[in-house]
Amino acid sequence: MITPAKQRFAIGVDLGGTKVASAIADAEGHILSKHTFPTGGEDGAEAVMDRIKAGIRQLLEDVDASPAQLIGIGVGSPGPLDTRRGVVVFAPNLPFRNVPVTDILQQEFHVPVFLENDANAAGLGEARLGAGQGRRHVVYITVSTGIGGGIIIDGRIYRGAHDFAGEIGHMTIEPGGPVCGCGNRGCLEAVASGTAMARDGRSMMIAGRTPILAQLVEQDPEKVNAETVAQAAQQGDEGCRELVERTGYYLGLGVANVANLLDPEMIIIGGGVAKMGEPLFARVRQVLSQRALAAVASAVEVVPAALGGDAGVIGAVQVALGQDREPAAVATR
Ligand SMILES: [Zn+2]
Repeated sequence: MITPAKQRFAIGVDLGGTKVASAIADAEGHILSKHTFPTGGEDGAEAVMDRIKAGIRQLLEDVDASPAQLIGIGVGSPGPLDTRRGVVVFAPNLPFRNVPVTDILQQEFHVPVFLENDANAAGLGEARLGAGQGRRHVVYITVSTGIGGGIIIDGRIYRGAHDFAGEIGHMTIEPGGPVCGCGNRGCLEAVASGTAMARDGRSMMIAGRTPILAQLVEQDPEKVNAETVAQAAQQGDEGCRELVERTGYYLGLGVANVANLLDPEMIIIGGGVAKMGEPLFARVRQVLSQRALAAVASAVEVVPAALGGDAGVIGAVQVALGQDREPAAVATR
């Protein structure tokens, strides 16, 4: 019999621009308790880190455990990051500039802490415990405001030489296309993200091409977003249907490129835009079969994500369990 005092736990923290999700799990990664609280980025990085520490103490209390029983803490964060040093270099929606997240939490709890790109963490969660369960080679694409990616090769996150791998949102899809946040033109993110759908839906509405959408948002272009476009398409708005179709086309091009390059078993698409479901996925699969090598296209499954908003925190727990890192990356134990 294992006495409760000897039981081991892992904590995952999914740090986002508006909210933080944190969870404690047993040594197999089963979530035992989970909390979500506002990030409060306007109070500065130190205040956010204090909130994360308090959240971790609360989780330990929830299961009546001490920090000494922790296998580790995994933190998923928007980047760019330096995962080897455990530093959030910069995060567009957070007041974080060169914040040594790993050191701060290690000094507080004296356990190994791992920092991971949020899309990589979510991808690991989906690959291990979500839609990709049982598969070793999985690519996760999250399509919401922006487009992010996580590449899981042989069960582990592929980070590249400098932690920048998996930037699927910035592959060029339409060379002369709209300007992307990164400065390039026609990135996947610039043509197929929720932001791109909202932008195109708005201009189509102003041009009078989306009557059902116009009614749905009471003629207010500000209210046009990916969700209202999808809703209007569902209600038969021809212009919005065309827009969903086009989004699926561009995503399909991205998916075909990824499939040709990596030959994964499965490509999982998550994020708000993926909630459009079959009309979008059917188009993505069709373009995949037209554009990827026949052998590649027929061997890869393209499926919706299964963990929803929990993918990030479930993946962060997997990061905490440390199975994804070389032992050399463990700073202190
Ligand atoms: Zn870009």
